Amino acid sequence: MRISDGEFDDLDFDAGIDDSIDQLDQFWMKRALLQAVAAQQLDEVPVGAIIVRDGRVIAEAHNGREQLRDPTAHAEMIAITQAAASLGDWRLERCTLYVTLEPCPMCAGAILLSRIPRVVFGASDPKAGAVVSLYRLLNDSRLNHCADVVGGVLGRDCGELLTRFFAAKRALGKK
Ligand code: ZN
Repeated sequence: MRISDGEFDDLDFDAGIDDSIDQLDQFWMKRALLQAVAAQQLDEVPVGAIIVRDGRVIAEAHNGREQLRDPTAHAEMIAITQAAASLGDWRLERCTLYVTLEPCPMCAGAILLSRIPRVVFGASDPKAGAVVSLYRLLNDSRLNHCADVVGGVLGRDCGELLTRFFAAKRALGKK
């Protein structure tokens, strides 16, 4: 897997919302990518998430659906639970969630319920994304919370990890 610096000229995916690439966001996204790689090594769909507050990581997790036999064990859900336990508060104020894949409707709901003010994701998810792709749940004025969103941070690296994972699965004749 390539997690590279200085090669942003050739990014060819659609960044979605924000074309500017912030160095700090890249730094933290690399850490979320390490979680995604850890998931892959467990034969889990490689998605990783971390939660950062005041420059400190308070949660890091990866998708654990197979190991935990739990359909809700997405990386974001586990990280949000960890962060709330770490803070002793369900309100995750001043937190940024970094996740390698655009959150699904369930995770976007959890982001809203936990009051996370900022979400940075890597690859967009045209089939299940609820932040920019299918829905824009984090920016819906009918709901009582919104979050700032930055998409496409190391999006190609995040997406290639997933693409290769599913290609390998197909090659093995599994679903
Ligand atoms: Zn999810």
